Amino acid sequence: MTLTAPNGASRAAIVTVDDDPGVSRAVARDLRRHYGERHRIVRAESGEAALDALRQMKSRGDLVAVILADYRMPQMNGIEFLEHAMDVYPGARRVLLTAYADTGAAIDAINVVDLDHYLLKPWDPPEEKLYPVVDGLLEAWLASDHRPVPETKVVGHRWSARSSGVREFLARNQVPYRWYSSDEPEGRRLLAAAGADGLALPVVFTPDGEPLVEPSDADLAGRVGLATTPSKDFYDLIVIGGGPAGLGAAVYGASEGLRTVLVERTAMGGQAGQSSRIENYLGFPDGVSGAQLTDRARRQAAKFGAEILTTRDVVGLDINGSARSARFADGSAIDAHTVILATGVSYRQLTAPGVDELTGRGVYYGSALTEAAACTGQNVFIVGGANSAGQAAVYLSRGAKSVTILVRGPSPETSMSYYLVQQIAGIGSISVRTCTEVIAAHGSDHLESLTLRDSSTGGTETVDAQVLFVFIGAAPLTGWLDGVVVRDARGFVVAGPDLSVEGQRPRGWELDRAPYHLETSVPGVFVAGDARAESAKRVASAVGEGAMAVMLVHRYLEKL
Ligand SMILES: Cc1cc2nc3c(=O)[nH]c(=O)nc-3n(C[C@H](O)[C@H](O)[C@H](O)COP(=O)(O)OP(=O)(O)OC[C@H]3O[C@@H](n4cnc5c(N)ncnc54)[C@H](O)[C@@H]3O)c2cc1C
Repeated sequence: MTLTAPNGASRAAIVTVDDDPGVSRAVARDLRRHYGERHRIVRAESGEAALDALRQMKSRGDLVAVILADYRMPQMNGIEFLEHAMDVYPGARRVLLTAYADTGAAIDAINVVDLDHYLLKPWDPPEEKLYPVVDGLLEAWLASDHRPVPETKVVGHRWSARSSGVREFLARNQVPYRWYSSDEPEGRRLLAAAGADGLALPVVFTPDGEPLVEPSDADLAGRVGLATTPSKDFYDLIVIGGGPAGLGAAVYGASEGLRTVLVERTAMGGQAGQSSRIENYLGFPDGVSGAQLTDRARRQAAKFGAEILTTRDVVGLDINGSARSARFADGSAIDAHTVILATGVSYRQLTAPGVDELTGRGVYYGSALTEAAACTGQNVFIVGGANSAGQAAVYLSRGAKSVTILVRGPSPETSMSYYLVQQIAGIGSISVRTCTEVIAAHGSDHLESLTLRDSSTGGTETVDAQVLFVFIGAAPLTGWLDGVVVRDARGFVVAGPDLSVEGQRPRGWELDRAPYHLETSVPGVFVAGDARAESAKRVASAVGEGAMAVMLVHRYLEKL
């Protein structure tokens, strides 16, 4: 089989790592014999050495198509190595080399590192057992979007709220970037090169090298390759919100031939995108990080032709005859036959004095993953008693000195899944304080301490705290739908049978049929996921409702 490489993809590397020098040489020899003319074969004898090589290649802008790693290596085994390698070259295809006895580990690795293949050693003859596999992987790699992403650099400061916001925005949109603190030599060098005084932070250097001082999310999106402007005026389906429900709707809508646009105001993934590990989503027995699930779903939606817009906040929904129109903050709008509202919920703000001023400077809302590195060796506090708080505690406990979960009620067990309560109980550095509220946050330019109140005794206490993560209750921000669709007292959108009161259809409903299951009080406007009244508040149900809403969109369009 002959593979041809498009421009720039020639001489993409195949990297192999095996701690046994003899085997390592043999693998490289077999690969060189078959692929040496078209690809560079890079060989390493430890995971560390291979990672160094990958990082160097990355900084040179080289392409890496396939990585083959031996499973049994000392210090860092093949699965651990591939997990790190994914951070450097997420698009490279991954293969684990195993002995027959380790097949179980290889199967487990399929989920952990999204393994493309495992190969049993020895693979003689390679023409039968090695080359067909690598050919298939190279073909898949060539067909994918494998261009190297030139690097974005962010120079900021840990206690600059906008620096924190920019990092979170880039991370949640899966835009790779390198972080430089403004008080480190390289950070100072970059600021000097940009002629920036370092008082206004962050300064972001986009891949084309141009510095942006304190950019807004929309400025950034346009510069790092995220689409913000619709390509058409009219679609079959507008999906509002890029969480699991919206992504699910976009995948099914586009894959079933609907001209679909997905509009997201910040970053794809919604709440799920902020989860360190979703353990209960079907098909992922080892869990999956929200970032990975989001990245796969976004690519899947794009593959089927869904148009994806970020940093576009929908502020109004207008009904003009059979057209439904989503209005943006700048006054522009897009029209479609149908709309799926998948706007989910947002964290409530903690209202204690001092919290607003210190947000982004030690106080964070749900951005545990981006800030995790800064928590190493610190006393971390988490407010909230639901799964999101529990997951963050488990994740942060790996590096933090201590993690204290502050729960307002008498126990987290009513709101947190049983598996998480058990996990937390088994981690010595996590403690749970029940009946406790934060009543003030203190600090000059960053968080230094918190005042806590024990609601059972009324007593207060001030504790040293450098980091506070807030994961409290969630509210649907649906004020912009006021007077358009029926919402319940808390702002959740009411749909389907729930709209009928004593057998009466909703006011203004003119069709001779009842609203479909996920249809709102406006025909052709559907709701899916957490934004729906009485929804399950789970990833799986949000994805399922997204898919189901598309089925109902078809039913609606057939009768249009
Ligand atoms: C940290 C964390 C961990 C979790 N872990 C789990 C778990 O392990 N298992 C599980 O089943 N569930 C978990 N959940 C709950 C789960 O993530 C949610 O149920 C799910 O994300 C709901 O999906 P959704 O698409 O309905 O809404 P969301 O995920 O809330 O997404 C809504 C999206 O719409 C966007 N949006 C809102 N308004 C507008 C507008 N006007 N214009 C444009 N865009 C808009 C938002 O920016 C957001 O991206 C977790 C939640 C959190 C926060």
